[in-house]
Amino acid sequence: MTRACVHCGHELTDRDVRFCSIGCGRPLPTFYAAHGGAGASLLAGLFGVDGGHWSTIDPAAVPRRHLPVLVGRTHLVGLEAIQQALGSLGGLFELVVFNRDSPGRMPKPLTDRAYIITGTANATITCPFVAAWRADPTDTTAKDATAFITRFRNHYANSLENS
Ligand SMILES: [Zn+2]
Repeated sequence: MTRACVHCGHELTDRDVRFCSIGCGRPLPTFYAAHGGAGASLLAGLFGVDGGHWSTIDPAAVPRRHLPVLVGRTHLVGLEAIQQALGSLGGLFELVVFNRDSPGRMPKPLTDRAYIITGTANATITCPFVAAWRADPTDTTAKDATAFITRFRNHYANSLENS
């Protein structure tokens, strides 16, 4: 799998985990789990970057070293964990990923809660439920996986244009 910088699309080497050192020089996203089973390490593996639990973040060290992305599932426990992390570290997270825990529509109480989160977060993006990842968490060829990866990269490409 070829790893590309989410900002400039430059091909990354194995050493480029935190920064796009041979391209634009910008920090790469780091995926922080809002709770156990959030899928942050799967997404980190997919993009070839770091992952961890949000509670390990040192807020004083973050701005220079990371582009922090918070990841949580779209069930009640996951959304509550996202809200807790945002309540603690708030605007530090550049992006929140709603990582769908099931296919199909979300029940209204959950979409309502996600809507509230969207109002407080810097930005949000939804990762669909990708059935292929249950068997192979590195699968980037499934149609819904490809669509998410493209949208994720576009999020950064657009924010670069607008900055
Ligand atoms: Zn780059």
